[in-house]
Parts: sequence; C-alpha cells; structure tokens
Amino acid sequence: MTEGVVVLKRGREKSVLRRHPWIFSGAIARVQGAVPGAIVKVVSRDGSFLARGYYNPHSQIRVRLLTWDESERVDEDFWRRRVVAAWERRASPLVRGEGTAWRAVHAESDGLPGLIVDVYGPWLVVQSLTLGMDQALPHVLPALVDIAQPQGILERSDVDVRKQEGLLPRVRVIWGEAPPERVDILEGGLHFLVDVWRGHKTGFYLDQRENRALVARWAGGRTVLNAFSYTGGFGVYALAGGASHVTNVDTSASALALADANLRINGFSPSHWTNQEGDVFQVLRQYAAEDRTFDLIILDPPKFATSKATVQRAARGYKDINRLALKILRPGGILVTFSCSGLIDPDLFQKIVFSASEDAGINAQILAYLGQAPDHPILLSFPEGRYLKGLLLRRV
Ligand code: SAH
Repeated sequence: MTEGVVVLKRGREKSVLRRHPWIFSGAIARVQGAVPGAIVKVVSRDGSFLARGYYNPHSQIRVRLLTWDESERVDEDFWRRRVVAAWERRASPLVRGEGTAWRAVHAESDGLPGLIVDVYGPWLVVQSLTLGMDQALPHVLPALVDIAQPQGILERSDVDVRKQEGLLPRVRVIWGEAPPERVDILEGGLHFLVDVWRGHKTGFYLDQRENRALVARWAGGRTVLNAFSYTGGFGVYALAGGASHVTNVDTSASALALADANLRINGFSPSHWTNQEGDVFQVLRQYAAEDRTFDLIILDPPKFATSKATVQRAARGYKDINRLALKILRPGGILVTFSCSGLIDPDLFQKIVFSASEDAGINAQILAYLGQAPDHPILLSFPEGRYLKGLLLRRV
C-alpha cells in the first residue's frame, strides 16, 4: 500500500519543524491517497519531507506525528522500539515511584500519541484515544506483553475524547486473564484497592503520587479536609503522616466505599476519619456556616474546563472553592489546591487562587509549586502535556 501524503499550507510547517506532534485541519492544503487511521507522509508546500504520522479525517487533529526521520518506517518494529523506550525510561523508582502501580506510557510525551498504559501490579490497563492508535494496537500489544509479562491486559478505551475521533467506547480484556474487581496495589508503603474496570481514568490517579507523599509530610497532628477525595488517596497518606482526623468529601458513593476500604486495609481506626457524601461547593459553605475549620485542606477537583468555551466558568468554579476553603482554614493552616484542566495554565491558576484569597480577605504564602508525577512527563516540544498543576499554600 502506498503511503498517503498530507501537504501543508505555506508557512504552516513551522510547528512541525519544532517537533510539535499535532497537525490541525487548518494547516492542511491538500490530502492525497490518505486512508483513515493509516500512516501518512507530511510534506511542505514545496514537497519536502517534514514528518510521518497517522491520519484521521474525522478529527480536528488530522495528523499525529510519530517520526521526523524520513528513513524511519512506521512498522511493527517501530511500535516495539517506542514501547520499549517508554518502559525503560521508567526503570528507576525515581521516575515510577517505589510502588507497584505506575504509568508506563504517557501518550505524545512518550512518542506514542493517543496511548496510555498504566501498570497495576501484574495487570496492565491500556487506553487508546485515537483511530490511529486503535489500528496500531495489534503491534503495540505484543511489545507490551514481551516487556511487561503481565497476567492480563484490560482495555479501558471508554473516554469521551474518542468521540472527537469518531470512535465508540470499548472496555474488554485484550490479552490474558481478566483482572479482579479490585486490584490491590502498593504505593508509598500503603495499600490501595483499585477498580480498574469502572474507576476514573484507568482506576487510580497515578499522577498525584508525589503530591500524596508531600501531603503525608505536612499532615502530622493536623485535622484534614480531603475535598474531591475519590477513593481517599490523599486521606490515607494524611493519616499515615500522623493527621489527627481526615474528612473525605466526594459526590460518588462508590468512590467513598473504596475510600472506606482503603482506610481499613491500612489499619487506621474508623474514629480517625469521616467520609461525607456531598457536593464540595455546598459542604464548604455548610462548614463555614458551622464555623468548622481545618488545619490542612486538599482541593483536587475534576477537570472543570473541558473546552475553550468553558474556561471562564471553570475559573469561577476554581475561585469559588478556593475562596471557601481559605475561609475555613485555620491561620497557619495549609491549603493544597489543584487544577487538572490543561486549558488553565499555571499562571492563570495562580491568579485565580490569588483572586479567591482577595475575596476571602485572607493572604497566603506559596510554599511549593506542584505538578504531575515524573512517569507523566512533559515534552518541551509539547507543552500541552502539562495538565496538572497545584499550589501548596500556607495561610498567613
Ligand atoms: N484526589 C483524588 C482524585 C480526585 S478526582 C485522588 O488523588 O485519588 C475528582 C473527584 O471529585 C471524583 O472522585 C468525583 O467523584 C468528585 N467530584 C466531582 N464533582 C464533585 C463535587 N461537586 N463535589 C464533590 N465531589 C465531586
């Protein structure tokens, strides 16, 4: 089969030359013989080779680039080399942490656009986000099997972004045995039960690993509010770090049920935690009305900004919860506040939190700037890979 060709408009080769991996529809002059999901050659207006990638006419991101080397063919061995490279970059616990769960492939940032692979002990959970990656999976999987030797591989391609590629959601065992309902992992010396079948993302927020360890270090002797707790990750670490009490708040009853199980399997006495099912926006107001305060508050909300059109509203949401949290934080207390909206950059996030502090009439110091764990790396040429940002603040 001959390779399709994507010809760019004049001047639109710049981002490709800077190794940005996406080509948007607006940059394309014409397309010749390209098959959806297949490999295409990207050339400039004058016909010179720029890069090779996979093509999808149904996506605004028409091509995701794979190689800038004209002599490199995208064949089975190509995918194997990329998988092996990603795996080997995580050989050190400095990158993947000390536990049994970590991210083995972080999509574009590992030269594998549209592919997420997370390790949960003997199980792999794979997410394919694009048509091109769906078609590459038959090559990617044998490489993963060889290098990871898993007991089974679960595909959790049930993410909304697949719609933008014209794809349906898909959840299935794609290799070996089916993982159990709850996979027991170790992280930071603590046990967590992970619902790889139905949990958020691939089951666990692996990107927060380092920040959980940080919270443990700050938690000694403090009363902790873990808002948007999911399955209690920050709360378990806080108790391990000596917190006097943890309150987990989440709207999801099933997440809180797992949080409960996670607190128990780590041996913490039920008198040291409360799990409250509720909307954080309301619960924070209720605590303020009751004059209930905390020494350490974690705010780790879901992605409020899902498109450019929702950034304004998202900013108001972030401002609201940060203002309310600062109000119920004791003087000298610590606020650990996050945003995982890629569309809200770190500067904007800091401005939002500042504006929240102004409205609350409370000042705070930034003690640390936080981000995603190093097994979720960010390519310099692909700053979009930075999505998680956080601030560790002390109320003054
Ligand atoms: N901190 C967690 C991850 C949080 S994910 C960890 O480290 O594991 C965001 C969580 O917020 C989800 O569990 C979701 O159920 C919950 N959530 C979303 N909107 C909410 C709201 N308005 N009030 C409370 N919880 C909410």
